[in-house]
Amino acid sequence: MKCQFCGHPKTRVLDSRPGKKNNHIRRRRHCQQCDGRFTTFERLEDNLALVIKRDGRLEVFDREKILSAIKQSCTKLPIGEDHLNKIVGSIESRIQESRRRKLRSQVLGDWVAAALYEIHPAAYIRYSIVHRQIQDLRDLQRLLEEELG
Ligand SMILES: [Zn+2]
Repeated sequence: MKCQFCGHPKTRVLDSRPGKKNNHIRRRRHCQQCDGRFTTFERLEDNLALVIKRDGRLEVFDREKILSAIKQSCTKLPIGEDHLNKIVGSIESRIQESRRRKLRSQVLGDWVAAALYEIHPAAYIRYSIVHRQIQDLRDLQRLLEEELG
């Protein structure tokens, strides 16, 4: 989105939260060129979806957040940046294809894990341990059995 002050074509999102009726998203943006900060209200149609957290809170689907979780899971594995972006893209299309407005964070986690499983078992296991509440080896074993069953 263009900067409201200097017209610089790229601004960074500092914070996103759903509006009161969940049909708008309020975004704080920052322009790295002029250091201006402003707030935009964007229609949900222009965005992907809301994620329902485990505690019931709603959060705007955040591509960067997914990307950084995937990056962490792939640290030191021979997987290029392009590939990581492709995975996030595939998750986004999956959300769009499902035509869901709201998505449980667990479902999202399962999709990310499935995509990582395709590229590297270590990335899959790391992601599952950090993001899918795997407490011990027994949980991990159960998870693997369920999925590879
Ligand atoms: Zn600016």
